[in-house]
Amino acid sequence: MMDRYKKQRLRMVDSQIRARGIIDEGVLRAMEKVPRHLFIDEGLWDQAYNDNPLPIDERQTISQPYIVAIMTEALELRDRDRVLEIGTGSGYQTAILAELADRVYSIERIAALATKARKVLDFLNYYNVAIRVGDGTYGWREEAPFEAILVTAGAPHVPKTLVEQLAPGGRLVIPVGSRHTQDLVKMTRGSEDPSDIKRENLGGCRFVDLIGEHGWEAYV
Ligand code: SAM
Repeated sequence: MMDRYKKQRLRMVDSQIRARGIIDEGVLRAMEKVPRHLFIDEGLWDQAYNDNPLPIDERQTISQPYIVAIMTEALELRDRDRVLEIGTGSGYQTAILAELADRVYSIERIAALATKARKVLDFLNYYNVAIRVGDGTYGWREEAPFEAILVTAGAPHVPKTLVEQLAPGGRLVIPVGSRHTQDLVKMTRGSEDPSDIKRENLGGCRFVDLIGEHGWEAYV
């Protein structure tokens, strides 16, 4: 049973990730290892390694594997880094980060998703992950600064609160744009001069809304 998914997972990494130019060996290895199907409902397991996002509970999504790879590669993680993730969702991206960094702090606004993600991450022995329920647009002040911050929901602008929680040399990756399409933006804080913040555009993407004080208003 596990073998069948292992084969699909290796094929996913070859055809969707390596073939599209992702070269970070750590990212490739993590995606070959983490059992993506366990983060979604069993009825969707046969689609777990397909080239697209999939629905999870609460009208949210688990991101397309290639998007997970691009965002993770852009974070340039080292094994001593502490990472903040906004939007735990299924917990799949959290597990990929936990493979590569020292500790992952992940915030999810929907409690039911956080609970489910925690269970899968515990089952897979990811003890270097802390999950908190709340509005991640405020960041996680008590644990700041972070070497890397990843936002996995689309924002109207880059929240200043998150830039402020970047360590010198730190990287923030976040989808920014309208409620329909966004650009993946990478902000890097200077290591010599922390007031120097560089901004790059990594290309188009499409995410569910980042909802919160420094994000979008919730639809009522
Ligand atoms: N990375 C996730 C995965 O691998 O399954 C997918 C994340 S999903 C595309 C975006 C998540 O961000 C949703 O679970 C949503 O509830 C959450 N979210 C939206 N706004 C948030 C906020 N202000 N704080 C924390 N989580 C938020």
